[in-house]
Amino acid sequence: EMRDITDVIEITPSARIETDRHGWRAKCLQRLVRMGLPVPRSVAISSAAVQDIAKGQPVPKERFRDLFGNGETLVSVRPSAVRTEWGGPGTVLTVGINDASHACLSRSIGQDNADAIYLSFVQSYAINIARLDPDMFAQEGPDALSDALRLFREEMDEPFPQDPARQLAEVLRSMARAWEGPTARLLRQAKGAPADAPLGLVVQEMALGMGPGLCGSGTIQFADSVTGQPRVTGRFRGQRQGSAVGPGAETLYLTRDERGPSLEEAAPEVFADLIRFGIAARERLREEMQLEFVVSDGRISIIDATRVQRSARASVRIAVALASDGIIPPDEALMRIEPRALADLLHHQVDPRAPRDLITRGINASPGAATGRIVFSSAAAQASAARDEPCVLVRRETVPEDIRGMHASVGVLTGRGGTTSHAAVIARGLGLPCIVGASDISIDLRNRILRAGGRSFREGEVITIDGSTGEVLAGAAAMLEPALDDSFEQLLEWADQAGGIGVRANADSPEDARTARRFKAQGIGLCRTEHMFFDASRLHAMREMIFADTPEDRRLSLQRILPMQREDFIELFQIMAGLPVTIRLFDPPLHEFLPHDRDELRELAESLDLPLSDVTRRVEALSEFNPMLGMRGVRLGITVPEIYDMQARAIFEATIEASRHGDPVVPEIMVPLVSARREVELVKTRIDAVAAAVRNERRAEFTYRLGVMVETPRACLRAGEIALHSAFLSFGTNDLTQMTYGLSRDDAGRFMSIYVNQQVYEEDPFHILDQEGVGELLLIGAERARAHHPGITLSVCGEHGGNPESIAFCQRAGLDYVSCSPFRVPIARLAAAQCAI
Ligand code: PEP
Ligand code: MG
Repeated sequence: EMRDITDVIEITPSARIETDRHGWRAKCLQRLVRMGLPVPRSVAISSAAVQDIAKGQPVPKERFRDLFGNGETLVSVRPSAVRTEWGGPGTVLTVGINDASHACLSRSIGQDNADAIYLSFVQSYAINIARLDPDMFAQEGPDALSDALRLFREEMDEPFPQDPARQLAEVLRSMARAWEGPTARLLRQAKGAPADAPLGLVVQEMALGMGPGLCGSGTIQFADSVTGQPRVTGRFRGQRQGSAVGPGAETLYLTRDERGPSLEEAAPEVFADLIRFGIAARERLREEMQLEFVVSDGRISIIDATRVQRSARASVRIAVALASDGIIPPDEALMRIEPRALADLLHHQVDPRAPRDLITRGINASPGAATGRIVFSSAAAQASAARDEPCVLVRRETVPEDIRGMHASVGVLTGRGGTTSHAAVIARGLGLPCIVGASDISIDLRNRILRAGGRSFREGEVITIDGSTGEVLAGAAAMLEPALDDSFEQLLEWADQAGGIGVRANADSPEDARTARRFKAQGIGLCRTEHMFFDASRLHAMREMIFADTPEDRRLSLQRILPMQREDFIELFQIMAGLPVTIRLFDPPLHEFLPHDRDELRELAESLDLPLSDVTRRVEALSEFNPMLGMRGVRLGITVPEIYDMQARAIFEATIEASRHGDPVVPEIMVPLVSARREVELVKTRIDAVAAAVRNERRAEFTYRLGVMVETPRACLRAGEIALHSAFLSFGTNDLTQMTYGLSRDDAGRFMSIYVNQQVYEEDPFHILDQEGVGELLLIGAERARAHHPGITLSVCGEHGGNPESIAFCQRAGLDYVSCSPFRVPIARLAAAQCAI
């Protein structure tokens, strides 16, 4: 016997139906019942009872006889897991049909319909419950029903079971066991459910969608699954019940449609009722629902309701609409959106409804999708852009010279590199879709051919890259436009009101800064000044400065750069209109600025007016075995102090200039790659001197804040004394990760997937902050800094600043803000809000 008769319980308004015990479907049906919707009589079987049934305990047939009577009523059985997305065994319809009810049905709904229903049940029972060969039970045509019944008898040595209670018992047992099977366990674990997740079942009296008058079954929803816009969509299948198709079956559109007949025209009252039920369900279930319904001779039954499937953009529009209509509070709307999903709204996206011709995959380094002709060089990209032909730049990896090409392209694909490689960082900054580390591609530059996935593509052929998924597709895929609409704005406005950790943007160009403003960043948290020289017209100036080996040459080259920088900073200050701007002094890993091949060397020799041999010798002298650990950051500033002097002067002059016409500017100057207190002292002394000189010359007052980038393990450990000289510290978690792991930012992409697949690392630590290791260093640094300098401003400005999990960590660590690529600002704002709610 069942352990407790209440484990099988009719779904009435007052019944004790609980999601944990009976599953979401039972609970949802109860809500529909409470609303007074026409839900057929339904019974919930608790997960405990289902477990007993799976173990072989007898099903309480008497109880079902009490509930459904003996013989006349057909029922359906549906799974009811705790959460919708955990799925469950397939629904079984019209349980209980036998020779007697078949005869009855023949009279009430017609012979053909009754035959179709009985046949479809016999077939599904034979295959799913008796486990007979599916090929044997594919009968069609006039004698199909008698053939199926005969075949069943022959195979099973007994007639098709006629006792409805036995049929039901067998169906329940089979569904209960299917849930326990290894495949089902794996499937639900993949969806995030525990392996031993409970399953409830719902038994419901059938409403028949076949027979005289208007009959059929259908679904209706009130918001578009792709856009989220209010729109009635769905199908009505007349004279159909699951796989049973009666004579006169026809599919109708729901609303008026020039392509064919619609339910709205065929049965306006039915349609109006469905709309009414939909509005009520949305309000009471506090969710955008899809209703499943049956019409029997013009009468509607609502047999099920599920959450509308939705794309990222639809999820935003739906949640905001629910909150704007007062159905859910804004905080709940915020919590319902996955922050990462916002990336899909900021860019073009491959239409999820469209076919995809997949060539290969790489790392999804910068979201969005783009279609263009393949080009293999920056020159070709620029030529293509000049012809107004969108192109995708395909490179083994990118170097600073490729910036021009990246600007001219609609997307970037590289064979090498990881999430913080040059291509990835620049593309994110530009908001360009980008795939890196597509290790399967090979580029035949001589013949101008891209080979991937066993196929070849010539330069000029069209491909689509989906930087959101990392997929490279052949040809032009159908696209969705970005969705920066009022719903998006509203959601982020609510996010800001939640009062989470601050969010600034990493911005190096006026374009970045404007994007940062558009996404309401609270300032610029990192301006990488060396990036201001990636541009073709500027690269030479930077190289000249690097190559100068006499003080006089250096003075001249710095004199050339100073006004460029001053203009850069004035523009940034003006765009940011009084919001804080953190300018990082030069941190050029030299290899990113040295010429790479003979052509470039010759070009440089020409522009410097030096013999090629001199330039070559100098390049050799400057080249480092390990440039990421070489003459970088403050080391350059200490070795050649005139360089930082020049930058400080440019910043101060720009400050005076920008403050004269607009909001007062208090620049924040940040010193990179510090590992010792003395470095900060030396730089600070000189910058203070420059400030004094500029004040004096210009007879103008200004203040500034000097801060330090904490991105070496030693700087974390010595953060206390470093903080004494600093108004703020910003953790550069890219380098900090590189140095904590001893893992190259530029090369780790090659084996990262193997490391993650074998669970050496849980995640790519360049992507999601390693809380145990790098995070501990960060906490140590923050604590020591605060101990020596209470109230010091603390932040993170590595790529992790845009990662929701890492943002939660920063918030727990009590940091003041995170700073991330401009296009990740919306994601960060939402993630910050969710931590605060
Ligand atoms: C960092 O190291 O985290 C950082 C922000 O600086 P960059 O990426 O320019 O080295
Ligand atoms: Mg760094």
